Amino acid sequence: MNSDLFALLPAPLLAWYDLHARVLPWRENPTPYRVWISEIMLQQTRVEAVKPYFERFLARFPSVDALAEAPEEVLLKLWEGLGYYSRARNLRKAALVIRERFGGVFPERYEEIRALPGIGDYTAGAIASISFGQPCPAVDGNVLRVIARVTGTRADLSKPALRREIGNRLKAVYPPGRCGDFTQSLMELGATVCLPNGAPKCGECPLAGLCAGLRTGCARDLPVRPEKKARRVVNLTVFLLRCGDCVALRRRPEKGVLAGLWEFPNMEGKLSESAVREHLKASGIRVLRLSRSICARHVFTHLEWEMGAWRIDCAEPHSAFRWVTRDALRGEIALPSAWKAFSRAVFSDPPSA
Ligand code: SF4
Repeated sequence: MNSDLFALLPAPLLAWYDLHARVLPWRENPTPYRVWISEIMLQQTRVEAVKPYFERFLARFPSVDALAEAPEEVLLKLWEGLGYYSRARNLRKAALVIRERFGGVFPERYEEIRALPGIGDYTAGAIASISFGQPCPAVDGNVLRVIARVTGTRADLSKPALRREIGNRLKAVYPPGRCGDFTQSLMELGATVCLPNGAPKCGECPLAGLCAGLRTGCARDLPVRPEKKARRVVNLTVFLLRCGDCVALRRRPEKGVLAGLWEFPNMEGKLSESAVREHLKASGIRVLRLSRSICARHVFTHLEWEMGAWRIDCAEPHSAFRWVTRDALRGEIALPSAWKAFSRAVFSDPPSA
């Protein structure tokens, strides 16, 4: 990759950013706390979707101290719908570390920021540059796409060594006094102009004069992506257990997909009615009535759940589960979106005979 090309990036990007930066809630008063929360929320989630979450989160937990004190159930409920709940748990873990090790003051050194739970190279770079004005790049998918197109490289930029090389080359050209703006200008260009899925708006781009991808007509095909592995498909049988006004939930195991979060009881496999009855009997659940409910699908990054549910009216609440009302399910429990279709279905079915 051409180092001279990297040196040409800051001036046009900063001039463009000064005119075109979007007004975003976390850009006003970019304290490390606000930048941190926003960057964690923005991983895997669109800006528009994050805005209300960010406002609610800051209203409820306005400081590191408040976050360190957060009850897990409240924290996860606020996170409901953003997914990847380990991010929320790591926020609280990191807040505890900041309180204990740094007296509640957000650390300034890149290495100390990077060592906090849930903070990787990208987030550490964003906080260090935006909040503390340090020449620390934040290289995410948006930035990689811009660099791939500007340089015209067909290399696989998902490889950690290449990401590091890009980070080092950017670091060398960070403009003193405008480090945070340079980080944000790269992110902003990737998010609003050099768009993914083959649709860059090159006519509006401040880098058009430098861009090898545009010059050679291959911008749309960059970056070259490695072939994705097919997702593993898992069939699940879901048990929507009702007793009076309540429905049964249980915690998922502490490790693995949706670790430690609430779910409707379920088991792997596509069970027939007789197999469902047998399983319930063996589990000590007395069934009053059983009927098929809805089917749903949930897609994770590497995994897909194909789920078929059974609605079961129980004679009494089994002690293996937590029994919750519809209001508690809506207002208190953080239920991952994988189960949302069932949380509607379980209360819309006809009541017990
Ligand atoms: S000119 Fe087009 S392809 Fe090149 S960086 Fe700008 S938007 Fe992306």
